[in-house]
Amino acid sequence: MRESPDPTTRLAHSGRHPARDAGLVNTPVYRGSTVLFPTLDALEAATARPYEGVFYGRFGTPTRFDFEAAVAEADGQDDAVAVCSGLAACVVAILSQVQAGDRVLVPDSVYWPTRHVCDTVLARFGVETAYYDPLLGGDIRAQLTPNTRVLFLESPGSLSFEVQDVPALCAVAREAGCVTVLDNTWATPLGFDAAGHGVDLVVHAATKYIVGHSDAMLGTVSGPQAQIDRVRRTAQALGHSASPDDCWLGLRGLRTLAVRLRQHADTARRLCDWLDAQPEVVAIRWPAWPQDPGHAIWRRDFTAASGLFSVMLRPCPRAALAAMLDGMALFAMGYSWGGYESLMLPVKPGEARSVTDWTHEGPTLRIHVGLEAADDLIADLDAGFERLRGRG
Ligand SMILES: *Cc1c(COP(=O)(O)O)cnc(C)c1O
Repeated sequence: MRESPDPTTRLAHSGRHPARDAGLVNTPVYRGSTVLFPTLDALEAATARPYEGVFYGRFGTPTRFDFEAAVAEADGQDDAVAVCSGLAACVVAILSQVQAGDRVLVPDSVYWPTRHVCDTVLARFGVETAYYDPLLGGDIRAQLTPNTRVLFLESPGSLSFEVQDVPALCAVAREAGCVTVLDNTWATPLGFDAAGHGVDLVVHAATKYIVGHSDAMLGTVSGPQAQIDRVRRTAQALGHSASPDDCWLGLRGLRTLAVRLRQHADTARRLCDWLDAQPEVVAIRWPAWPQDPGHAIWRRDFTAASGLFSVMLRPCPRAALAAMLDGMALFAMGYSWGGYESLMLPVKPGEARSVTDWTHEGPTLRIHVGLEAADDLIADLDAGFERLRGRG
């Protein structure tokens, strides 16, 4: 066998222990709070090393440990920590690295709740946040003050899909002794090898593609052992505990991630081709789309795309947009994404920005392409555009 199997192969085999689990292929859901120790010796030994083995439910059970091991392997990292949401993963990754007086650099296109926690909670505890243009590469150097501890990245950016020059940003940060944290939710471990491109801590909102079925909240942080030990202790100190049931769903999702992702992206490409031909469509933001402004970097750095993109439309009356959205048969309106079902959401990529502009004037729709047949999705879109035109 080859030294290092394909990531897809690893996803099928990591994080499970049939010999430990009565021969079962999959790790069962180990639920529990109290763990019993048979002797005073055993109690004292476990208490001295709570992170080794099963100690107390909050610290995790084998279901979480196996999910964490599978994510670490998928990310090509030493270790990973699972927490109860993607947002918690973003926050605990940052918090594990900073103290009062430190500064964090965050891209202007960041997922809004990440911006919110920086501007509120981190600010209250004396950690300053500065926002930067996500399209800056090595020029980020000018913004790395001596107290900048974390360079946060998210590529592509939420809603607006700017593709960041991750290797250039990470090289500068490394020189400056600044820790990099990348929110890799869009690409998943299969679409972008974050560690291989120089990222220290890799975050996934596993809620999205890793769980893949819109039925659990879960987040992960992976990284080198010393960094992850800090993340794990910070997560524990804050009382984080990802539920065994949700970790089990995360493990289940990882097994099929490769085939789902391929299907999401194939259908997304079909939809982009179709959308591009509609007179109301001004632009599409999907990094795998050849006309996307970030396509060259995407092609250089990524190994796959996912099925989430934005479509910018010509200005139209709200009532026309409502007629389109309210009547969709397959595209539902709702937050989050990454499940098997298609979603369509009006978004405002310009609203929260502070250092870059979003000049598009018409509506922007964020589309998550599910696993339905492409022809059916196109028919639904076609009828939707007809309603937008007042002909539906
Ligand atoms: C959804 C999302 C998160 C947060 O994940 P939750 O599990 O919903 O807390 C973080 N980052 C990105 C890019 C996301 O899309």
